[in-house]
Amino acid sequence: MSPVPTTPLSPALSPAVAEALKGLGLTTLAKLVPMVLETARQEQWSYETLLQQAVGAELAGRAERAYARRIRAAHLPAAKSLESFDFAFQPALSSRLIQELGTLGFVQTATNIVLLGPPGVGKTHLALALTSRALEAGYSARFTTLRQLADELETTSWRQQRRRYLTPRLLMIDEVGYLRLTTSQAHQLFDLVTARYEQAPIILTSNRSFAEWGTLLGDEVLATALLDRLLHHAEVITINGQSYRMKDRRLEPAPVGKEAPPD
Ligand code: ADP
Ligand code: MG
Repeated sequence: MSPVPTTPLSPALSPAVAEALKGLGLTTLAKLVPMVLETARQEQWSYETLLQQAVGAELAGRAERAYARRIRAAHLPAAKSLESFDFAFQPALSSRLIQELGTLGFVQTATNIVLLGPPGVGKTHLALALTSRALEAGYSARFTTLRQLADELETTSWRQQRRRYLTPRLLMIDEVGYLRLTTSQAHQLFDLVTARYEQAPIILTSNRSFAEWGTLLGDEVLATALLDRLLHHAEVITINGQSYRMKDRRLEPAPVGKEAPPD
């Protein structure tokens, strides 16, 4: 007499299937398939629903991993968002314009964004927030400061420079103005701006007016040519308000025994 066949309620998935899924690069599904099958049994999914859920789980896993990779590659120094920006503190700044930029049309049209103003007014915050939006939307991005960029343009290979500063869809260059460039650095920066011109946008922050860029680059003619390309398709936003860093300090009483400094 042959033994009565027993059908377990939840047949274990053959390890070969999980291995095959991994081999096919379906790593999320390989991990989640026992759970997906279990839910399918409990909720009596149709074959169609099961397939949709399985494919959906793999796609969601991939999107999450790709986002994590983009974030790592972007080298953002801090997490900033448009939501955490207090527009009431900068009443002269158009929140409508910034929110509009947050819809990322500028990435599509390769329109540069130049944020100008004194220290502490939120230039870096806004630039990082827009860069984060782009990363969330699936674009690649890279943060750098002008100092770091100038150093690397001189010391790294052309291939590395390309990977870091040309391949990313969005390039953020922070703190233009604190460093005077050497002739070679100025030319390299010009080449970079030219290479990205009308192809991929740059978000740049600076505490200097454009009139000072000649001094910054050590070459008036080069500065004019660079600004010509940078500003041809650009949104220039000048923030002339108070420093947010000083916000709380201004509210504190003056220290005893010390005179308030002149304004
Ligand atoms: P900037 O680049 O213009 O020198 P930052 O963007 O670095 O200024 O701003 C200085 C600090 O103040 C940062 O921590 C930033 O997040 C914060 N900050 C600046 N402006 C605002 C604002 N309007 N709302 C909220 N935080 C702000
Ligand atoms: Mg800054």
